[in-house]
Amino acid sequence: MAEVIARIWHPFTQMANAEPPLQVSSGQGAYLYLADGKRLIDCISSWWVNIHGHAHPQIAEAIYEQARKLEQVIFAGFTHEPAEQLASLLVTRLPQGLSHVFFSDNGSTSVEVSLKMAYQYWQNLGQERKRFIAFQGGYHGDTVGAMSMGRGSPFWERFENLLFAVDLVPFPATWQNDEDVVQKEEEALAALLELLDKTSSGINEDYAALCMEPLVQGAAGMRVCRTEFLRKVAEICRARNILLIFDEVMTGFGRTGDWFASVKAGVNPDIICLSKGISGGFLPLSTTVCNERVFASFLDHTNAKTFYHGHSYTANPLACAAAVASWHLLLQNQDQFKNMEARLRRFFQEELQGNKWIKHERFCGTIFAFETKTAEQDSYFNSIASAMKKRFIEEGVLIRPLGNTIYLMPPYCVSDEDLRFSYRAIAKTLASTCE
Ligand SMILES: *Cc1c(COP(=O)(O)O)cnc(C)c1O
Repeated sequence: MAEVIARIWHPFTQMANAEPPLQVSSGQGAYLYLADGKRLIDCISSWWVNIHGHAHPQIAEAIYEQARKLEQVIFAGFTHEPAEQLASLLVTRLPQGLSHVFFSDNGSTSVEVSLKMAYQYWQNLGQERKRFIAFQGGYHGDTVGAMSMGRGSPFWERFENLLFAVDLVPFPATWQNDEDVVQKEEEALAALLELLDKTSSGINEDYAALCMEPLVQGAAGMRVCRTEFLRKVAEICRARNILLIFDEVMTGFGRTGDWFASVKAGVNPDIICLSKGISGGFLPLSTTVCNERVFASFLDHTNAKTFYHGHSYTANPLACAAAVASWHLLLQNQDQFKNMEARLRRFFQEELQGNKWIKHERFCGTIFAFETKTAEQDSYFNSIASAMKKRFIEEGVLIRPLGNTIYLMPPYCVSDEDLRFSYRAIAKTLASTCE
């Protein structure tokens, strides 16, 4: 067994000195069970995908039933019930106007699709718009287009020469009792306007779209901004006639305490990217949903405006069946994600408030995050991360710090008892690693 494991090259892992990976044999609700019998509370929803807990019987059943009927079929020229159902369910809760659903396989491809859509949209109208706007720290996935959009992320420096033209605007990250938030927002908006004014022709005809993670920048360290800021960004995009893309790969399906971050903020983007929670965390699936304006521009009697994009497993029926089952669970249990923020705040007050190692605490729906005070810079590469990660496992919780940022993002079914346990594990870990 050990030999087999040694052949696998793990993601985001330095294989030269990585600890042997933990062998997971099963999952149940918020728990993961390791091969050695140890139980972990999955405080990060297995890289932000799981929303109803592990091995949920209703989703497992839906996949089984679907597998006995139709496991996969080409999606060009064909369709099937689970995809049709999912598309009609999605549009009931997405911001108004988002009505045309394009399927792909993961968050990165949903972003690739969105930027190709936006780029071709302007071509369909007879305009050549080559540039995009994104936010500093933004993360949109690991494929080349998604890296370009996320070029403000620290991961991609070595790929710089491969990336296409994206201009960055500061992200006004905020936290509890942040006195500078309004000023940060004004500076970000001024930077955005400056970019839009600077273009060669004086009007913003170089820019195809602005792409952002609404409300929470995930990989950047759970950096939160206010709904007011999103509304102002959206107003500017409207006024300057560039498309607005929301990457809700992480924030969708209840994560920010409402169905979607865009709904919470009352903003209607032109294109939205969804993945991660879409299938309840069971199977890879994503969608890029656009409005009528974008969709209609592709309609033509020739092939000149056809959208030439698609993947082998586009709209895989098993993944769609899982997503439909997950959607119904989400509908039934909406209170779980709507009430989570109050619970996260309460346990913070009871277990961590005033802790001398904690700064910049923030809450957004089902997400709680803060920075650990260290002698080093706040950064993904802060060396405290690996020591803490190890300690958390010893404490019985799966918490994976982003540098010196610690966050909880549990499945919505997590119990009060397990939440309190996780906060206490944080307190203990801070005490033992920061001293
Ligand atoms: C995770 C993530 C992606 C990439 O999704 P993958 O499924 O890992 O390709 C894109 N955007 C955001 C905001 C994400 O959090």
